Amino acid sequence: RMHNELQELKGNIRVYCRIRPFLPGQKGKQTIIEYVGENGELIVLNPTKQGKEGRRSFKFNKVYGPTATQAEVFVDTQQLIQSVLDGYNVCIFAYGQTGSGKTYTMTGPDNATEEEWGVNYRALNDLFRISQTRKTTFRYEISVQMVEIYNEQVRDLLSTDGQPKKYPSLLVFLYLHTLGILSTTQPNGLTVPDACVHPVNSTSDVLKLMDIGLKNRAQSSTALNQRSSRSHSIVSIHARGIDLKSSSSLRGSLHLVDLAGSERVDRSEVTGDRLKEAQHINKSLSALGDVIFALAQKNSHVPYRNSKLTQVLQSSLGGQAKTLMFVQLNPDSDSFSESISTLKFAERVS
Ligand code: ADP
Ligand code: MG
Repeated sequence: RMHNELQELKGNIRVYCRIRPFLPGQKGKQTIIEYVGENGELIVLNPTKQGKEGRRSFKFNKVYGPTATQAEVFVDTQQLIQSVLDGYNVCIFAYGQTGSGKTYTMTGPDNATEEEWGVNYRALNDLFRISQTRKTTFRYEISVQMVEIYNEQVRDLLSTDGQPKKYPSLLVFLYLHTLGILSTTQPNGLTVPDACVHPVNSTSDVLKLMDIGLKNRAQSSTALNQRSSRSHSIVSIHARGIDLKSSSSLRGSLHLVDLAGSERVDRSEVTGDRLKEAQHINKSLSALGDVIFALAQKNSHVPYRNSKLTQVLQSSLGGQAKTLMFVQLNPDSDSFSESISTLKFAERVS
């Protein structure tokens, strides 16, 4: 009963767990997964402990085993997408260590077939499809932003001047806001002062933009090793629905967040840039955990200010907003301790 009460309290926060399959190069590896239940129960095995002691059970809103398809996963996400067009803010996160399938769940593999499409393509298709079915009553204006947060700096991945840029200070933003320059162009949801907002009319428009964004993101990854796993990426889709009869309008937004890898970096082994990256990632992921935890507990104080990530998403976390966290696991017993720390993070927020 306790659990049901908690579920009710946490109505706007869902946590889904997904375990990726072993990859072709991982034959003969031992799995930590003992049981994946339809009811959201997951039992993992500690490879170093025998019998009952080595078993641990976790409970989620949903859990997907290694054979779950992208389409099956999306079925449980779909209702959230519709609510964006009803005027809600929705955040979908993927959390887990590097290699656990975050990008696979959110985007899909490289050169994905339609079947392999991740949440973001499917969500976009749904947004455009549903907005079409409402076209006799609503006209929707849909736009996209894409940013990256690296070392507590926000970069616009879709800036039109050719250079992905850091955004100027909050002061500039407030100034433009006061002049009214931003108030009409700045949709609600993402608190990034001047990240470019691109109007879109179809999924393929968005895909083109995301391609540009991903290229901009990749640009820096040769310089800084595997930056994509060291930064958070946020694709934000804003929908403004204008009621054709009354001309009143509603706004909703969808933020698709591929978080930086949650793996612990051994402090004794890293120095300089890597250490700094690790500290920033640690800080922002724990700040995110704290925010979601505070929201789930209905605390009156929600500590948004502790990281760029939570600041940027502030208006889309809490209040009427809906949050979904995909907790990603690598089934390999070699990753057991990382998986346990991922599961503990999830346990706290779910
Ligand atoms: P992350 O973004 O967390 O670092 P990736 O999404 O890149 O992890 O996944 C690591 C590898 O595992 C990739 O080769 C990816 O294609 C593969 N993979 C992840 N999840 C699945 C899945 N559910 N089914 C098949 N392959 C997957
Ligand atoms: Mg990734």
